[in-house]
Amino acid sequence: MDVDGVEKTPVFEAIPLPEEVSVKEEFYELRMGWSGKIYELRVGGNDMVYDFRHQIEVLTNVPPERQKLIGLSKGKLSSEMDSVRFGALGVKNGIKFTMIGTPEADSFVYRSETAKQQQADDFDVRYKALAIAKGEAVRLVAPADDPRNKRKIQEVIRSCPITVMDDPRPGKRLLVLDLDYTIVDTKPLLEGSLPADECARPGLHDFLEKVYPHYDIVVWSQTHWRWLESKLVEIGMIGGDRNYKISFVADRTSMFPVFTQRDGQPFKHEVKPLAYFWASFPHWSAKNSIHIDDLSRNFALNPGEGLKIRAFKGAGTPDGLGDKELIKLGNYVCSSISSASI
Ligand SMILES: [Mg+2]
Repeated sequence: MDVDGVEKTPVFEAIPLPEEVSVKEEFYELRMGWSGKIYELRVGGNDMVYDFRHQIEVLTNVPPERQKLIGLSKGKLSSEMDSVRFGALGVKNGIKFTMIGTPEADSFVYRSETAKQQQADDFDVRYKALAIAKGEAVRLVAPADDPRNKRKIQEVIRSCPITVMDDPRPGKRLLVLDLDYTIVDTKPLLEGSLPADECARPGLHDFLEKVYPHYDIVVWSQTHWRWLESKLVEIGMIGGDRNYKISFVADRTSMFPVFTQRDGQPFKHEVKPLAYFWASFPHWSAKNSIHIDDLSRNFALNPGEGLKIRAFKGAGTPDGLGDKELIKLGNYVCSSISSASI
């Protein structure tokens, strides 16, 4: 849903990839020879080729585009194959294959990934519930029902412990807020061309004070938590004298990519699965959570809980200073609370 229906970023409807997905998960145990060592790999048949190549990158620091795989499957596993399920490659379970490739420095890998992500930010994707006719030849799976995505959520839960700043209060709902272009104008904040508090969206603190009696507040941003926390301090959201607290923050390490199609081509983007928070705080669920973001694709796994607002890109300009989005949002979020449920 949108607060006022205004779209600035081009949006396309998500179209699931045409494929068969095995509901029953099968796994391949493989051995990979590289640089005189043997590495054990466990790959799900529902994993994407992207996941497989990423797993190799994590083990060896060789980026996917430099990985040459010998004795694994027919044809080259190029990036065009990223959205193909591993189980569709016809790989035999238990085989040993060889990888040839030169590792890269960590910082460079991180930079190139960040650059790719920024390119992808030119588009948004809207997800809706899938209505599939019975007996349809191709089985379309919503991202939330995809066994691969469910497994990825569990991996995030296991590998990204939450560092709580202010304990979630019993009986309070969950409000997840995106940072970039939702509550701050990121460009001047990154460039340092405006003081941090002037990059905040107008009405930010009033909005947070208004919702805090009903909601615990979590900020989830694509940026690294260290940068994220320091910016929240500069803006006055952490350690300020306002009548609200931030429960905790989450960064990009707890996001993962999903695949959809645009113009018939596979398109990869990252998602923020709310189940990550629900696992640690079981009093939160789809019934009492809202996720506010300027990109609806971030809700791909929770389309029912997502609330898209217009991107804020005008800090310091008359237009930006007149932005009323957070006032509308505060009214909307508080008025939507039914007294019956938590
Ligand atoms: Mg954003």
